[in-house]
Amino acid sequence: MAQRRTDSTRLKKANGNRVFKLIYKDGPISKPEIAYRLGISLPTVIQNVKSLQDAGLIEECGTLDSTGGRKAVALTCVKNARLALGVDITLNHVSVVLVNMDGSVMESIREKIPYRKSMEYAETLGATVNRFVERSQVDPESILGMGVSVPGILSTDGRTLIDSHVLQIQNVPCAKFVEFCHYPCIFCNDANAAGTAEIWNRKSIENGVYLSLSNSVGGAILLNDRIFQGDNQRSGEFGHITIVRGGRKCYCGKNGCLDAYCNASVLSNLTDGDLAAFFRLLRGGNAKIVAAWDDYLGYLATAVNNLRMSFDCSVILGGYIGAYMEDYVSELQKRAAELNTFEEDGSYIKVCSYRTEAAAVGAALMHIAAFIDQVC
Ligand SMILES: [Zn+2]
Repeated sequence: MAQRRTDSTRLKKANGNRVFKLIYKDGPISKPEIAYRLGISLPTVIQNVKSLQDAGLIEECGTLDSTGGRKAVALTCVKNARLALGVDITLNHVSVVLVNMDGSVMESIREKIPYRKSMEYAETLGATVNRFVERSQVDPESILGMGVSVPGILSTDGRTLIDSHVLQIQNVPCAKFVEFCHYPCIFCNDANAAGTAEIWNRKSIENGVYLSLSNSVGGAILLNDRIFQGDNQRSGEFGHITIVRGGRKCYCGKNGCLDAYCNASVLSNLTDGDLAAFFRLLRGGNAKIVAAWDDYLGYLATAVNNLRMSFDCSVILGGYIGAYMEDYVSELQKRAAELNTFEEDGSYIKVCSYRTEAAAVGAALMHIAAFIDQVC
């Protein structure tokens, strides 16, 4: 008897979660449509909708056209029902964002706070986050927690930053970064976080590869809206794909890695570290810069084509270079298509929708995703 009750409670919770997820993903949606799509009875849907409304997680939002009879009431998620903080730690800056349930950025800041392995750094980080939350004037109770993006490889349990080439540290407990922050924290790799942010609101994409082109090259593989971590938490390390046998020296010590050809500093080094200046000169037709860009695009097209061949899904370009790609993506698509055995065009190549905030947003979304998974 007790067993039967447990099973029925579990089923009720599972139904509640499925109803919520459907409204979250495909809302506005009506109750009959939910019943039809999930294959559960209308009374069960009505019961679940009521408890989700009572919890303040969904709301009515007008009516939907129906094929006959009364118009159906439309249901949607309450976007600000819960919020999450996201922090992105880079070598010279800290970005902080506040996102709502649908991943929209409500507030953001980016401050120059150079990384130091010290307690002062953690103090500054904590003070920056606390000031940011105070200024945003949201109810602290609605904040689920803080996602923290770090540039490096994390341990399987996400508690130790095993290696960060960017920060020049190894085996640092993640808690050290957030000693002065008062929120539950989840840590994630920066490229995985940015990739999550880029996929989150593209409803047509469930699988995607994110290629981050900043001062190092990295990436993320997202399958069914979730990050594929790999056996050693090292999936998506596209920077170290060998692109030229015996080629240029990479910072990892090997030769011919993609990083040595496509990291942003390959370009910005030609303009004293100023990437904006590089693209200004490119637009102006400077011969040396045009030749360097042509070279860069050639290697990038090869890498992107290899990713398409390996994963057969959209490839999203992000990072510092991704932010400039809008004007050049059609040329890249053309070049990648020329290399491809199957593709007529390169329309699978997309440009990132965030500029500098992607990793912070993705880190915050880790909390939103965890919350969505446990709603019932
Ligand atoms: Zn390498």
